[in-house]
Amino acid sequence: MADIKLSILDGSEQTMPTGIPVSEALKALCSNKIRKKTLAVKTQEEGLLDLTAVLDKDTVLEPVTIDSPQGLEILRHSAAHIMAHAVLDIFGSDVQVTIGPAIADGFYYDFDKKEPFSSDDFEKIESRMQEIIAANLPFIRTEISKAAAISLFKDMGQTYKVELLDSIDAETVSIYEEGGFVDLCRGPHLPHTGWVKAFKLIKVAGAYWRGDENNTMLQRIYGTAFADAKDLRRHLNLLEEAKKRDHRRLGKELELFTISDQVGPGLILWQPKGALIRKLIEDFWKAEHYRHDYELLYTPQIAKRDLWKTSGHLDFYVEDMFSPVEVDEVSYQIKPMNCPFHIAIYNSRKRSYREFPLRWCELGTVYRYERTGALHGLMRVRGFTQDDAHIFTLPEQLEQEIFNILDLNMNILKTFGFKEYEVYLSTRPEKSVGSDENWHRATEALKLALKNKGMNFEIDPGEGVFYGPKIDIKIKDVLGRSWQCSTIQVDFNLPERFGISYTGEDGGDHQPIMIHRALMGSLERFFGVLIEHYAGAFPLWLAPVQARILNISDSQLEYSDQVYVKLRKAGVRTEKDLRNEKLNYKIRQAQLSKIPYMLIIGDKEVETHTLTVRLRDGKNLPAMPVEEFIDLIRQDGRIPEIN
Ligand SMILES: [Zn+2]
Ligand SMILES: [Zn+2]
Repeated sequence: MADIKLSILDGSEQTMPTGIPVSEALKALCSNKIRKKTLAVKTQEEGLLDLTAVLDKDTVLEPVTIDSPQGLEILRHSAAHIMAHAVLDIFGSDVQVTIGPAIADGFYYDFDKKEPFSSDDFEKIESRMQEIIAANLPFIRTEISKAAAISLFKDMGQTYKVELLDSIDAETVSIYEEGGFVDLCRGPHLPHTGWVKAFKLIKVAGAYWRGDENNTMLQRIYGTAFADAKDLRRHLNLLEEAKKRDHRRLGKELELFTISDQVGPGLILWQPKGALIRKLIEDFWKAEHYRHDYELLYTPQIAKRDLWKTSGHLDFYVEDMFSPVEVDEVSYQIKPMNCPFHIAIYNSRKRSYREFPLRWCELGTVYRYERTGALHGLMRVRGFTQDDAHIFTLPEQLEQEIFNILDLNMNILKTFGFKEYEVYLSTRPEKSVGSDENWHRATEALKLALKNKGMNFEIDPGEGVFYGPKIDIKIKDVLGRSWQCSTIQVDFNLPERFGISYTGEDGGDHQPIMIHRALMGSLERFFGVLIEHYAGAFPLWLAPVQARILNISDSQLEYSDQVYVKLRKAGVRTEKDLRNEKLNYKIRQAQLSKIPYMLIIGDKEVETHTLTVRLRDGKNLPAMPVEEFIDLIRQDGRIPEIN
């Protein structure tokens, strides 16, 4: 037998016989410690391989260990097989299996089953899974012809698998088997089922076969799995915490926003308390933009449909738009974006290079079509207000402008308490417009601005928009979850389509560069993130109610009213709870409403003209005169200064 050269990435090379399994090669190539954690390997040419795969050419192996993200993904995908195995064991021929991938926080498997799964079923499935795991069953890979696979799954009565196979364009396919359960799969998988040390089924939800509403509705069971029971516990705690913070639940409890069937799905109704928070956000946003030399615009909700032809939206974006309306026999379109309006303002007169850059911002409300099934509280909606801006710059101003945007962006996000980010720079995709030179220059300008701002970023190759490169920023909330918020996009396309120009220093006509950017993304979504980030307990500067007055008995009614009037006049956002209820009950209710300050008034306070101040975390401050409390609120209720 001929020999082949094998090595570990960044390790020494060894000669071994052709046909050696990966697991044997690893014994010679890496330490026991690494080998015990390794469940698959990554190779340059073949991608991921199982430990049982045989090697027949020179290969560099990169161990995939159980404590790596890729290792965890393989473990979770294997857990999906184990779950499908358990479901088939329990429900037999009543069930059709479809697909079961690993996802961000776990895995799922979609089943076609007449009766819905119940929570009792979960216990049964979990205990069968536990048996399969305890049996340490090996995952065995076999390559067979597509025809053989089709007849195999036909014999098992698994028609979805047959449909999947029909759509695969290959001579041979791979199947995986453990303990008699066979699944069509590319792999790789764990060496055996015992590697799954901890798992839990989370929930069941409906999902259409292949995501198509015209297909059968399947039942999707979500689960999660880990290599360590501690990690599972931590994850379940996080889910529990996330549930408590769910913005839909808190939005209802705290009366921040509502959605009405009568009004329409995906359309947000801001209740008084939510509306007040929105006003505070908008005031802050406008003041910051003013400080950063922006000008504010307002534009209409609809425009002639032809505008969207010129902008290209009718060609590329029509599926995301609402249907047009007729006015005076002219077709109008409710706006999905603000950009063409800002361009129309640009075109209202001749522009000179001397007035550049133009920085125009708008809290612009747009409407986009989303499938009903995709709508989700404030996070996925049909009508939303972007914190939009368009900047028209000279080419040589681009880098400085991007830097300025990043500066403003960071100020705004930090003020709301977000300190960790993931930053991505997306470069030219295959299908795109604009010259190589422009793309190169713009991409370099984005890079340099990020570097000068001292921001770490990752490059997302080919993920730019067709009209230019972009920067995307995801913020991390207190639970460590990432939310896509800010986007900064360079655009060579719209200036071209609308033929906008300025008079340059040379007296000739030139085309400006346009930047689109939204920092919070949309007010609706950002509000949703804020609710979950703060768990509804907004910092004092954003709290819709800063203080609530609680009297102990009716003998303090008059003084309580006087204090209320004084505080309102001083601009303190105050409520009063003067009901004839026990103080403890009123305190409890104020705490549930997450009100920062409870002002308790008894006979002693009336006598001494003071207040006893209780904080929402249960601490008490010494009694103080009303004026002193007003000073305290003015001090603590200021918008945090960042730079
Ligand atoms: Zn699989
Ligand atoms: Zn735009």
